Amino acid sequence: MTRQDALALDATDPLAPLRGQFHIPEGLIYLDGNSLGVLPRATAARVQQVVEQEWGQGLIRSWNSAGWMALPARVGDKIARLVGAGAGELVVADSTSVNLFKVLAAALLIVKQDTPARRVILSERSNFPTDLYIAESLAREHGFELVLVEPDEIETRLTGQTAVLMLTHVNYRTGRMHDMAAVTRQAHAAGALTIWDLAHSAGAVPVDLTAAQADFAVGCGYKYLNGGPGAPAFVWAHPRHVGRFWQPLAGWIGHAAPFEFTPGYRPAPGIARYQCGTPAVLSLAALECGVDTVLAAEPLGGMAALRRKSLALTRLFAERVQATCPALALASPTQDAERGSQVCFNHPELGYPVVQALIARGVIGDFRAPDVLRFGFTPLYLRYVDAWDAAEHLREVLAHEEWRRPEFNQRHAVT
Ligand SMILES: *Cc1c(COP(=O)(O)O)cnc(C)c1O
Repeated sequence: MTRQDALALDATDPLAPLRGQFHIPEGLIYLDGNSLGVLPRATAARVQQVVEQEWGQGLIRSWNSAGWMALPARVGDKIARLVGAGAGELVVADSTSVNLFKVLAAALLIVKQDTPARRVILSERSNFPTDLYIAESLAREHGFELVLVEPDEIETRLTGQTAVLMLTHVNYRTGRMHDMAAVTRQAHAAGALTIWDLAHSAGAVPVDLTAAQADFAVGCGYKYLNGGPGAPAFVWAHPRHVGRFWQPLAGWIGHAAPFEFTPGYRPAPGIARYQCGTPAVLSLAALECGVDTVLAAEPLGGMAALRRKSLALTRLFAERVQATCPALALASPTQDAERGSQVCFNHPELGYPVVQALIARGVIGDFRAPDVLRFGFTPLYLRYVDAWDAAEHLREVLAHEEWRRPEFNQRHAVT
């Protein structure tokens, strides 16, 4: 493959027009949409409208007249289309960490009632830390044990002791993707419930929660959904579970009738009870713009078409880097079916300064301690030539030892 070939792929790419939806700074190759998606062109005007018109002019009336109260369900319904959930089954609220707390607590209540002998929460050792911290905290509070295993051990470690299998669908440090339907089947065969964290999946890879018969799911608004820094997250519970228990953060917005102001809690029917406090209207407005950029792919083939392009981009980049940067070890699966929308490499010492040197060249990836160079590929706005050029920049950083410069070895708070 040559750079010319990459340009030719871009010239015939049916998804190419989607890039026009975004504000991408001139000259930048952005490979960090798995950490913070880029700014959609529609967002600034929409947020300005919400601020000046709905808030500035409408004031408190906008809760009704501008539909503010319905935003968590309305944006939730849009995200539902991307993850195989039904309308009315998914709601936007709080952060991924907080939503994990709610669904894991609800799952533990189900287990305590239905299968009280089960005492193990099973997860992956390299799961995202917040997922593990939340599980550790709830395990302690409810008398469960958190057991962490390698991905290949999951099937054999599902036993009559397992209460809940809690996994992130696409691993944040390797890009390795679980077969959600198969793993859910194994968990159910062992009598365990499943919780899927879709932080690196929603908007990035096709997900079908309904077909997989998953039990609970959460996901992130600011990664591939392009909702902006700190965008609210989403939460889904299968209809067979959703009405069984209160979620533990039983706030007034999850009440069946918040404006009756009754002293006793009565949960709203369905997923609405997974809300807690007042919706973050400005953030929800920005998130809706971001979700709309993904839904804009629907007439062009939707998630299936995005997935095809994402795999082609990650394959191109991984192959180029492997061919030209022998110092880096590929940490992501080479099999398409096992790879999410990112490519990672390991280097024992130089990961951080190499990523800093790349950023100075206008190629933005990130570093995950202790040794991961991570590159996310968002097919909505990346071109084949970006993947080709990024690999070439990486080759030059290593060949010219640019990582030696002292400023690239200064650790920042966010890596
Ligand atoms: C990004 C990410 C989160 C983020 O959680 P916040 O509550 O938004 O900070 C959680 N879990 C996984 C797997 C992630 O990748």
